[in-house]
Amino acid sequence: AKKKGRNQHVFFEIDMASRVESAYSLENELRTAVAQQQFFLVFQPQVGVQDGMIQGAEVLIRWRHPEKGIVPPFEFIPVLESSGLIQEVGHWLIREACRYIRIWQDLGLWHDEAWLSVNVSPNQFYNPLFVEDVLDALKESKLAPTCLELEITEGIVIRDTENTIKKLELLRSHGIRVAMDDFGTGYSSLSYLKRIPLDVLKIDQSFVRDINIDRTDKAIVEAILSMSKYLGLEVVAEGIETEEHYRFFKGTSCQRYQGYLYSPPVECERFEDMLRERVVA
Ligand code: C2E
Ligand code: CA
Ligand code: CA
Ligand code: CA
Repeated sequence: AKKKGRNQHVFFEIDMASRVESAYSLENELRTAVAQQQFFLVFQPQVGVQDGMIQGAEVLIRWRHPEKGIVPPFEFIPVLESSGLIQEVGHWLIREACRYIRIWQDLGLWHDEAWLSVNVSPNQFYNPLFVEDVLDALKESKLAPTCLELEITEGIVIRDTENTIKKLELLRSHGIRVAMDDFGTGYSSLSYLKRIPLDVLKIDQSFVRDINIDRTDKAIVEAILSMSKYLGLEVVAEGIETEEHYRFFKGTSCQRYQGYLYSPPVECERFEDMLRERVVA
């Protein structure tokens, strides 16, 4: 048993070394990706629970790697964050999102109350120029601030709560909507909900998956829904994969949902088709 333990130790060291090396080369590859614009956006519709209409969409980033193909975000977002590259990518991403809204508005596919929801990572949010950058992006595409929703996480709030509150107040004073992503999975404390200026809570998919079997998950979701009503927050359910998931939320005050049941995240052409099908002539 001892011998096996020692071998495992050796494997562990090799594994660590190769991981450190691969993180380093990943960073280099990401620098190239930024320079050569290998990133693109996909869109996942957010749908009204009651009327089934597309109300907006969440924007998700993808990396088209020249050899590896499409790389999912969890493999590279942490490296973008730790390397500081997230500043440049985030700047591009907000502009790209605004560019699409402008195109869809001009095509008559996008009504005034629709928005795109953009994920914001901590180092991006804490850049002192973040708010200005977002407002500039909106102006450049001649868009009303209500066209954007920003998804923040509990991690952002925890890092510097006072600073977060000030920035969110500023963003919202301009009409930009703010959503708390993955609600309930972080270090959530109910007391901060009272103080953080928000428009939307997104119920994490981990609570939704077993909603019809697991009584604890059901209780948590019901608590989030009734609390949100009390606090005047909209609720978005994530990870709606089945009719059963949908039926649960249909009977609640939840306003919107997203999930594979309606559509996975899709590339812009497919999303435009979905918008077209929904436009009443
Ligand atoms: P997230 O913000 O919670 O995004 C939702 C994730 O759930 C997406 O994965 C989406 O494809 C997936 N999803 C959607 N519907 C379903 C469903 O019905 N079932 C299941 N099992 N999954 C579903 P994705 O695109 O791989 O993104 C993963 C995470 O990467 C995101 O989680 C977000 O934290 C991060 N991310 C993605 N795009 C960006 C971005 O542009 N900026 C930043 N900062 N983070 C991003
Ligand atoms: Ca999100
Ligand atoms: Ca989420
Ligand atoms: Ca997540």
